[in-house]
Amino acid sequence: MIFRDAAFQQCINPNCQQQFGVEQVLTACTECGSLLDVKYDWNAAGTPTDWSYYQGKWARRADRLNFSGIWRFHELLPFALPEHVVTVGEGQTLLQQADFVSEFVGLDSGNLFLQYEGMNPSGSFKDNGMSAAFTHAHSIGAKRAACASTGNTSASLAMYCAVSQLMKAVIFIGSGKISYGKLSQALEYGALTVQITGDFDDAMQRVQEVSKELGIYLVNSINPFRLEGQKSIMFRVLEGLGWEVPDWIVVPGGNLGNSSSFGKAFMELKELGLIDRVPRLAIINAAGADTLHELYENRGVSWNDGNIDRSVLQNYYDELDAANKKASTIASAIEINRPVNFDKCLRALDFCDGVVRTATDQQMLDAKAKVGSGGIGCEPASAASVAGAKMLREQGVIAPSDRVVCILTGHQLKDPTATVAYHTTDQDKFNEVLGVRGVSRASYANRAVAVPNSLDEIIRVINLYG
Ligand SMILES: *Cc1c(COP(=O)(O)O)cnc(C)c1O
Ligand SMILES: [Zn+2]
Repeated sequence: MIFRDAAFQQCINPNCQQQFGVEQVLTACTECGSLLDVKYDWNAAGTPTDWSYYQGKWARRADRLNFSGIWRFHELLPFALPEHVVTVGEGQTLLQQADFVSEFVGLDSGNLFLQYEGMNPSGSFKDNGMSAAFTHAHSIGAKRAACASTGNTSASLAMYCAVSQLMKAVIFIGSGKISYGKLSQALEYGALTVQITGDFDDAMQRVQEVSKELGIYLVNSINPFRLEGQKSIMFRVLEGLGWEVPDWIVVPGGNLGNSSSFGKAFMELKELGLIDRVPRLAIINAAGADTLHELYENRGVSWNDGNIDRSVLQNYYDELDAANKKASTIASAIEINRPVNFDKCLRALDFCDGVVRTATDQQMLDAKAKVGSGGIGCEPASAASVAGAKMLREQGVIAPSDRVVCILTGHQLKDPTATVAYHTTDQDKFNEVLGVRGVSRASYANRAVAVPNSLDEIIRVINLYG
């Protein structure tokens, strides 16, 4: 097996297609400024085109690469030598048939699946991408790595730095825009945490300037190697379905790295003959951070063979600036107005015949409570996928007989504040945390019952409600 020699980077702009070596550290094409893909010569890599080869690796999981949910698909992302791979056993995640929410979504029983990426070591899907980007950083000898983050990217980067002791993490966060679950991870794992006045979009811009200036390795999803790792989420979904292709993949959209990488995964699997058809892709924005939805569904911006109408995009961003409109949602992980992977995401929507919808904070929190009632705790942004699937069912875009996979991107314990406020008996707390977000009811609240400290009273309450 030849790793790395078979890989290169290539500009995604079909009118440019400039190529670069995998040893180069770039976040954009030096010719035209477009995003980059990691590409492969599959023949040179000797990539097997039979799923049983990948399935067989689990039996040999004493090898740390085979144990990882990413690297047991190494031949489908063959850019790194095995000795450079940095893994902490990420990607042991479940595709869960979720009959307990299928009725809520409006699907026939047995047709809704949840891909629970909150089960990753740092509690979000970001570990899939981070292991890959970190591996690339390690292979080129980087000593410091940086990211801007709404929380999960920084938690993941801090974890890989701390576990491997190979690099120092430098993270940029906006002021007041990070949940305590996520911030606590970055601090405890020893990351240099830079809190700037501004929001994620501001932090994202700064981290790019700083990384360039100081030569720090950037691990945001603008980094093409990160998206290689995230393809494995789709490999595991297929594995969970016995290598059958579902009808729909539904995913929350923030910086649009995940949706972009899913599109790339399906392009490559189709090219390799590992799948014979492609699922449709549904990307769900928060209603308060809906750039993709506005541009794709309302203003008609599309991939258009790589000739994206930039004037519409620019007008929209100018409008946001003129109105001083900032992204605003309780789903902090997708509170992003200027998604860096916009172009790649349009390509994915084009390839997967995709649709984009928005979910309000109310819809996300109600969906989150439904998901949680089945014992699969997720954070608010993750529930956008389930809220979106429900909406697409109601609109008749998804049929009751369709097989639907919703990606649960992050763990419930990332953001307990939102969860407790939703279920709380304390109306003041509810109003303080959720009312300001336009959330008016907790449709599926499981309220704590206040009881005097008396055995009789306690027994009475348990008999009444239990
Ligand atoms: C990062 C993140 C997202 C958004 O994913 P993108 O790839 O940026 O679109 C959604 N949910 C959670 C929990 C996240 O951490
Ligand atoms: Zn280019």
